[in-house]
Amino acid sequence: MKTEEITSRIKEKARRLGFDHVGVCRATTPPGGSRFDEWLARGYAGDMSYLSERRDAYRHPSGVLEGVRSLVMLAAHYEPTAPERLEAGKGRVARYATGSEDYHDTLRRRLHQLSDYLRELRPEATTRGVVDTAPLMEREFAQLAGLGWIGKNTLLINKGTGSYFFLAAVLTDEELLYDQPFEADHCGSCTACLEACPTGAFPEPYVLDASRCISYLTIEHRSPIDEGLRVAMGEWSFGCDVCQQVCPWNRDAPPTVEAAFKAVEEFSPFDLRALFFLDESDFRRRFRHTPLWRPHRRGLLRNAAIVLGNQQDGDAVLALSQGLQDEEPLVSGASAWALGQLSSETAEQALRAKLGVETNEYVLQEVRSALGSIDARKH
Ligand code: SF4
Ligand code: SF4
Repeated sequence: MKTEEITSRIKEKARRLGFDHVGVCRATTPPGGSRFDEWLARGYAGDMSYLSERRDAYRHPSGVLEGVRSLVMLAAHYEPTAPERLEAGKGRVARYATGSEDYHDTLRRRLHQLSDYLRELRPEATTRGVVDTAPLMEREFAQLAGLGWIGKNTLLINKGTGSYFFLAAVLTDEELLYDQPFEADHCGSCTACLEACPTGAFPEPYVLDASRCISYLTIEHRSPIDEGLRVAMGEWSFGCDVCQQVCPWNRDAPPTVEAAFKAVEEFSPFDLRALFFLDESDFRRRFRHTPLWRPHRRGLLRNAAIVLGNQQDGDAVLALSQGLQDEEPLVSGASAWALGQLSSETAEQALRAKLGVETNEYVLQEVRSALGSIDARKH
């Protein structure tokens, strides 16, 4: 079978498997390589040290599959809608994570099927499917494969359907027929994403300082969140969609056809108070197979406490007092901060009681600072 015929059959199969966009590019040095080095050097990766540790692998897709010649780049839409207003006690979850199943599992199944199909056509082919976890500059390769351009918000945007999609790839050592790269940039004079970012995470267009980005802070960052960024997190308890919400190219983003990506009621919006009453094993059972597992219980409760503090939700005192007693300092410290945002006598009493028994220096510092905020509001 000719290369052209194989490529067209693979694309057809990818669409039948539920991918909304598919394009093919040659395995090459990605064009954003030197920008990536500079980005790392500026410290914009925060404490995602795995990015710099795998720097060499990112230089060429052969770091992911030896002998690779082609990349089949794939995009699958996730749910574009989200609640407009939230009641107190509820938090926002980035749209990509509100489905009923971890998208890695859904997409890996599809990638296996696509790889199997390619090997049916070319039994000697070597393949590897990747979604997120391999050292591959997915957005750059998706642009090379003609799927769209990288916007000022650093995300890949498709002119027809916007940016609410997952990217995945099948790498192979087979030669395929390559698409034209997407060369236009349709951001024009728009700066909506740069202006709307709540934490000012874009030092310049097309550059994201991940260490200030709410997605990074709520998912990847393992330590307390800087006090100066907590209020800016607003109601985001896991990830953030603001720079996509404001993008004009997402105005007509299509709904997903994948049942596993449809938003489940429990996560959209997300009941934050209840989280504080789940023990470790309940928590694991509930979240182990969802994207929300990544920050683990300690990270998710830290985020939940900050959102409840931002909402100044008087009905959250019980949940936050429970969080204050948590044996994990990250949770206890964030709960202390949140209690300090509430104008509540019970919150103040819980903090004063904690002051007498706490031994962890970080938590003590948060408790003292929270009591300081309460005192400052009284005077
Ligand atoms: Fe800013 Fe949110 Fe976009 Fe991160 S995800 S850059 S915090 S708007
Ligand atoms: Fe580009 Fe405007 Fe979308 Fe930002 S909001 S990515 S500048 S089109």
